[in-house]
Amino acid sequence: MQTLSLIVPCFNEVDVIETSYVRFKKVMDGLTDVTPELIFINDGSTDKTGELLSAIAKNDYRVTVLHFSRNFGHQPAVTAGIHHCTGDLAVIMDADLQDPPELIPDLLETQRKENANVVYCVRKKRDGESLLKRLTSKLFYRSLNSLSEVQFPLDTGDFRLIDRKVMNEFDRFREKGKYIRGIISWVGFKQVPFYYHRDARFAGETKYPFRKMIHFAGTAMLYFSKKPLKIAIGLGFFAVMIGLVYGIWILMGKILGFSNAATGWSSIILLIIFFGGVQLLTVGVLGQYIGIIFDEVKDRPEYIIDKEEKYGE
Ligand code: UDP
Ligand code: MG
Repeated sequence: MQTLSLIVPCFNEVDVIETSYVRFKKVMDGLTDVTPELIFINDGSTDKTGELLSAIAKNDYRVTVLHFSRNFGHQPAVTAGIHHCTGDLAVIMDADLQDPPELIPDLLETQRKENANVVYCVRKKRDGESLLKRLTSKLFYRSLNSLSEVQFPLDTGDFRLIDRKVMNEFDRFREKGKYIRGIISWVGFKQVPFYYHRDARFAGETKYPFRKMIHFAGTAMLYFSKKPLKIAIGLGFFAVMIGLVYGIWILMGKILGFSNAATGWSSIILLIIFFGGVQLLTVGVLGQYIGIIFDEVKDRPEYIIDKEEKYGE
């Protein structure tokens, strides 16, 4: 029989974890054609999440908990889950029940019927998320697609089912800044969509404040696209063209006597600001990529596991 691993990252989820586990458990109990295991990643929670997860692992032989040494972030947590999972299939899901665990049998069925390697869940409707979040997220997925060299499915999170083939390929990715949904769609194989209704967070607050979302979007853009660099070149080219045209105009003015060069204070200031801006912008873009190279070259671990807990250990 195939094994199915559920990968659930948790960061300060004390308000939801017990209810979530009850629902995960119910779904696992109902699965007859796969052997389920549940991997919780405690991403350096500062509340009682860690203790709650340990208690769950003590009572359920299917549960493993990976405790991080500190908060490393959602993507490193999911990465650790994939690295540690031994299942033939895995489902990545949030702890806050926004991705309903009751859909797992449907995901499995879709996987079998389509003989798919990835079943990615597309949000048809999303509840309980602010207009700003929905708007920025829509804008993000669309601009990422227009910038990136690969096309990503729109409006999908990390909630998806992946098979061993995809996990083995994922394990070969050495990059530290992982944009997991991007990597999985980059990998290829047979990927099919599954449409669902995204519920509101069951309790507690989002762990993705605006600052983290910007950082996340940055990783996605910079790791999957070199277009910002091309845009920088385009800007430079544009600036040179303006310089050329303006230069010719001034020269002609001098020769033909219509130049206002002596009184051109405002135009000089304008040009300095404009070209200064273009230069800073392009250097900034370059700097972002250099920052990534710096991080990648250091080759630090993506996460540090303090301890791994299993039933009976
Ligand atoms: N999460 C995590 N580490 C973090 C932030 C979030 O493990 O630094 C987990 C969190 O516990 C949840 C999932 O990632 O299970 C998604 O986070 P959240 O629901 O807060 O994000 P949203 O659904 O609002 O985008
Ligand atoms: Mg959520």
